[in-house]
Amino acid sequence: MTEKQNYSLRLICPWCQKGAVLTQGRANVRISVQCSKCGRFYSADLNTMETKRASACRRAGEGRTITD
Ligand SMILES: [Zn+2]
Repeated sequence: MTEKQNYSLRLICPWCQKGAVLTQGRANVRISVQCSKCGRFYSADLNTMETKRASACRRAGEGRTITD
């Protein structure tokens, strides 16, 4: 009986690099998160653990990446 997935993974906010959400374990799912530090939205892939900037309600040109 070993629980190897009993740890928290941090998903760092790609906007400010300060805010983070914790998740436990991996899943083949994408979530949308609002950063508690800067208030911006980003999406996180719980399988690859990569975070991606997301625009809130607006569509700033779909398929385009927002430059810094
Ligand atoms: Zn942030």
